[in-house]
Amino acid sequence: MSDTIFSKIINREIEADIVHEDDRCLAFRDIAPQAPLHVLVIPKKPIDMLVNATDDDEALLGHLMLVARRIARDEGYGDAFRLVMNNGAAVGQSVFHIHLHVLGGREFDWPPG
Ligand code: AMP
Repeated sequence: MSDTIFSKIINREIEADIVHEDDRCLAFRDIAPQAPLHVLVIPKKPIDMLVNATDDDEALLGHLMLVARRIARDEGYGDAFRLVMNNGAAVGQSVFHIHLHVLGGREFDWPPG
């Protein structure tokens, strides 16, 4: 998998507003926030798309969810937040290093646009 802007953030080659880091993942504020809370949770392991994750990634993917939940709660949005993971350019994926969007603090439409 080729380097993305997110691997540069992991390697501290470019700056980001980091809100969480542990041995398996990093979370930072989205540079173009779509809601009062908009954090991205990414694995340190480079996986380009969810469709290419393997069974070995099961615990890692669960970890991303639990970190996302903790961030939403810690930022005061534990009662109502949305997680989004785009898979594929056709549905809006623009950075090919998987990431969970953690969104909160406004109303969201359903079905999503
Ligand atoms: P997606 O379109 O689902 O691939 O989401 C990629 C997200 O990464 C978008 O919401 C962008 O605003 C965000 N993004 C791109 N570059 C950066 C960056 N340098 N720092 C923080 N967020 C970024």
